Formats: sequence, structure tokens, C-alpha cells
Amino acid sequence: MFRSSYFLVALGLALISVTGSDTLQAQELVIVHTNDFHGHIQETKKYAGAARIAAEVKAIRQQNESVIFLDAGDAISGTPVSSMFEGEPIFEVMNTMGYDVGLLGNHEFDHGYRKIERFRDLVDHPLLTANAYGPDGALLGDAPYVILDVAGISVGVIGLVTQDAPIHFSPVGNEGLTFASPAERLTSLIPSIRPRVDVLILLAHIGHEEELALAERFQAIDVIIGGHSHTLVEQPVQVGRTAVAQAHHYGTHLGLIRVNRAPGAPSAPLQISGKLLKAKDLADPDPLVENLVSLFESKVEDEVDVKISETARDYSKIELQPILESILARAAGTELGFYNRRGIRDDLSVGPITARMIWNIEPFGNTLVRMRIKGKDLIVLLAQEPERHHSVPSIDPDREYHLATNSYIASHADLAFGDDIETVDTGLLIRDILIQHIKANGLE
Ligand SMILES: [Zn+2]
Repeated sequence: MFRSSYFLVALGLALISVTGSDTLQAQELVIVHTNDFHGHIQETKKYAGAARIAAEVKAIRQQNESVIFLDAGDAISGTPVSSMFEGEPIFEVMNTMGYDVGLLGNHEFDHGYRKIERFRDLVDHPLLTANAYGPDGALLGDAPYVILDVAGISVGVIGLVTQDAPIHFSPVGNEGLTFASPAERLTSLIPSIRPRVDVLILLAHIGHEEELALAERFQAIDVIIGGHSHTLVEQPVQVGRTAVAQAHHYGTHLGLIRVNRAPGAPSAPLQISGKLLKAKDLADPDPLVENLVSLFESKVEDEVDVKISETARDYSKIELQPILESILARAAGTELGFYNRRGIRDDLSVGPITARMIWNIEPFGNTLVRMRIKGKDLIVLLAQEPERHHSVPSIDPDREYHLATNSYIASHADLAFGDDIETVDTGLLIRDILIQHIKANGLE
């Protein structure tokens, strides 16, 4: 749990001396950042893993005086170790990585909003949100923002999640939540924070395009550390005096930004430069973090590191979509299947297929649902996925269809179409269906 000094600062009670721009002329602020880590604590061919990120951050801290390490949300949900233990191991591992500030992304709601209290207990750094409210109207994170003294540099960090968050999580366990508009919250927060800090950072789980738009509108923000769209932003995009960064996803990269002020006028604009460090270029794993990761992984590996089939080629997420749809339709005995592409969380590489890979593709624990839906509603449902890799049969608006889908799509369709559709949840885990099917038939 993070301690009260942050709270005092967030409440505006702490006496932080505003150091003025001189500090930034003498010494630069180094921002290290991750986003959309999605439980990938283990090193793989593509992903750095927690231990190498931790070692790199440690090295950066040794070489620089003022370092702040930030995470822009969606730390959990994406791997078996996260799914099986409801995200908890990820926050425990993050404690050993030395984060200063984290953020509630939409996936932090995957186990219901009440679970967030547990995450806040577990984790040593503040989990920010300035715009996610519980049913009682209280903010769900530790604070809307913090002001930290980073070796003499006063740094403000505001945390915001996409207002569309409810579209991206299951409504079950998340009843009665509200999400305020990021722009409205910034309008009310910035005037009181900006005068007290040398550098103002927005930790945003909103998506790159919208983050660029916020930068244009809120030039009082120096740096936006983004997330949610999993965008690989090689170098921070400079929008006026605001830099907008994002470090892809899953720990493929670590973001590094340097902020200083050119000598001369104290009002001179900040100089901001940055880049992404590739997973393979990071330091050797930190042994302490590596041990903790192994400990958690050892609890799942017997179940998931089991070969179930193999593939002679790579499959991208978009290529997996029609395969998953046809497997679901077969399992449900329906004429059609529908699987949202955003719900396919990993691709498949040539070689052996293990159960872990299927967990990584479907980490959410969604179940198979049979849906009876009118053609006109089905057309609306399918229109959510405009760029499909494969052709969709033409839908007769006046006919009724039987569709197989996942519980995430079904719960949102229930809200959207009400009594117009009929859904029956089979209770069967999609992950189990996929594993059994692929074991018996491969990807056919
Ligand atoms: Zn997200």
C-alpha cells in the first residue's frame, strides 16, 4: 500500500517547495515508462519480462539523479499467471521493479471494481485515477494526481483513463461506475497543479490519437505518457510544447524521456527528447525480480507449458479471428460465430502450440454464449468490426440467426439490444474449448 505522504500532497496539504526552473537547467528529469504490460512478467523472445525492465531502470537510476518510473495502466490480464490469480502477482512483481506511480487502466476492472481495493493494498506505489468513480461517487484510485519531489525537481502526475472504459470491460462486477471526460477533469485540475510543479506529466490510458488531441488542447502539460491503443511511438510526438509518448505493449519496449531547460530565460520552453529501448537491448535480468517471477510462474507452468499441437506458419490476430469464430460455432452448434478482434490478445508463431499460448490469446476467462439475434441487430453487431480479414456472409435483416460468441460480447449485446436478443451462457470456458479443439484438430 502506498503511504500517506502522497495523499497529503494530493490533498494539497504538503509543503513542497517549488524549486523553480533553475533546477531543470542544472539537472534533467528522466522519465522511464511502460504501458499495457498485461501480465507479461516472464521474459520471452518478444517481451523483456519484469526482471530485465527492473535491471534497466536500476541502471538508469544509477546513472541519473532525477528519475521517475511510471506505468500508464492495463498492467494485468494477458497471461495465465495474471488470469489464474486475478492480477495479484503482477502488482507484487511491480513492487520489486521500483515504480513510482501507476494508473488504473480499463483492464484493472477485469475482476470487478471491488478488486481494485485489493490491488491498492498490494502495491507500494499510488494507483492514480482522476476520472473513474465508484457507485458511491468516490474516485476509485489512491489519488487523482500526485506531486513528487524527484531529487529537487517538482513533478506533478495526473492520471486519467478513457471515458469509454466500460466498453472495454465486463459489466459484471462493475455496475454503477461512472467515468468523467478527461478534458473536463484536466480543465479543473491543471490550474491548481501547474503553478506548483516544474514538470507536469499526464499519465493517460486513453489511446494515442486522443492523447494527441489532449496535448493540442492542454499545452500546460509537458509530457503525456500514454497507453490503451498499444501504439509504438518511436520518439515522443511534439505537439506544440507538449510531448506525447507511448511504449507499445507487453514489455516489448521501455520508454525513456529526458526533460531539461536550455540555459537562459527561466521561461524558456522545456527541451524534451525520448526514445524506446527495445526488449533485447535491456540490461541482464535483476535476480531478485527474476526469482519472484519464477516463483509465480512455477504455480502455473505444469498446467500451461504443455504442447497441444503445432503450426507450420505464423498466425496474426486478424488471421486467428475467423478460426476462433468457426471453432466457437462448431462447439455451440450454431450457423455463425462472432469473436471481437480486440479480444484476441496474442498471435501465434510457427512451431509448437502450448496451452499457455491459448491463455495468452484468451486471458479473460470468457465463456461460450449462444445468441439468437435478428438479422438487423446482427448487422449492427458485426459493424463493430469493419475491417475484417475474411468475408462475412451477407445477412438478411428480416431473418433470425443463431450465433456463437463470447460472454464479453454477449453481455454488451444484452445491454444494447435488450429483449431483442436471447442469450444462453453455456458456462464453458472458451479457453478450454480452444485448447481441446486445437489438441484434436490443430487450427483447422
Ligand atoms: Zn486499455
